[in-house]
Amino acid sequence: MNEQDRLMFEKYDQFINNLKQKFQFVKCPRYNISVGEGWWNIVENLCQQISELSPPEQFQVSQIKEKFGGLRFYWNGYSELKEDLKAQITSLIRKAESEAYKTCQDCGNPGVICRKPSGWIFVACENHQKEENAENAEDIFLFKDTK
Ligand SMILES: [Zn+2]
Repeated sequence: MNEQDRLMFEKYDQFINNLKQKFQFVKCPRYNISVGEGWWNIVENLCQQISELSPPEQFQVSQIKEKFGGLRFYWNGYSELKEDLKAQITSLIRKAESEAYKTCQDCGNPGVICRKPSGWIFVACENHQKEENAENAEDIFLFKDTK
């Protein structure tokens, strides 16, 4: 592991430790949390907003990851939560997902959905889009704001 990788690894470790410490409902193993640094604020804000709703202990986050350029935030306890709380949590997650679609995964600057030459879909700012030699792929994600 080179120095840059080591620093990144340490930083990531800190992010996860902090998240798990601050929010008891983030109980999943660390390997179930996998999001780029540009989205860390979104994830932390989302957890903060959920914690302000004081969910019961049945609410447990099982996975936080990126898939096809989108933020995925999975949780358990769905059948045990009251309807209004479920609706509130779901709406907060939807808001975070929409924000992630407009936020560079690498640096957190405003971004758009892009496609790498390999076909990989991700969200990038102008700089990171260039760096990855990626093309704009907003067209394939037109449905993203409708769900
Ligand atoms: Zn960027």
